[in-house]
Amino acid sequence: KNLVIAIDGYSSCGKSTLAKALAKKLGFIYIDSGAMYRAVTLYFIRNHINVNDPEAVKNTLEQIELNFHSRDYQSHITLNGEEVSEEIRQMPVSETVSEVSANKQVRREMVKQQQRMGKSKNIVMDGRDIGTTVFADAQVKFFMTADPKIRAERRYKELQSKGDTTTTLEEVFENLAHRDYADTTRAESPLTRAEDAIILDNTNITESEQLHFALDMVHQ
Ligand code: C5P
Repeated sequence: KNLVIAIDGYSSCGKSTLAKALAKKLGFIYIDSGAMYRAVTLYFIRNHINVNDPEAVKNTLEQIELNFHSRDYQSHITLNGEEVSEEIRQMPVSETVSEVSANKQVRREMVKQQQRMGKSKNIVMDGRDIGTTVFADAQVKFFMTADPKIRAERRYKELQSKGDTTTTLEEVFENLAHRDYADTTRAESPLTRAEDAIILDNTNITESEQLHFALDMVHQ
């Protein structure tokens, strides 16, 4: 049977960094489930779709096609054929994504697509409900956390390196706090640690220490 590594945790805890490193080391496929919610959110924003209108949400989901293209273990996502990997990381999407991802119809569709992707391949998938809902039977599960201040600083630096000179560190901190709150309190599969998930707090460890710790767990 194929192997699934599930990584969940709060926003900007380094989930994708660890997931990519593991995928590269093990020769697995990396799937960024957050990118899917972000791309859907971008479509909602651009087309002024009301997420509280079930009929509109249903029609919208039928119009969206998402695809991943991985090059060098960096994940790229297309929305109806358009490369949106950069745009989905910007603040307008970050500010709206938790509201869109709390929607039941949106989640059902994303979970269905994610489960299909992990059906017969070895994958590492990161997100908020992977070990609890999408792949509740994953062989290895991690739950990541880190100090909120450190997380905000990391994400702030990342935004700056992408040319965002207007968003402040405080705004990034607020956005992370808001998303963590929304993600852990929503009705539909809220973010929570699966009972069998290994906790990984990366506040004070390097990327390489984190990778070695995770690899040890995978090989056990
Ligand atoms: O992982 P990332 O921070 O890009 O995810 C963006 C948002 O997408 C999260 O804050 C959360 O609201 C949503 N998400 C989710 N379930 C997932 C992955 C992401 O609800 N599996």
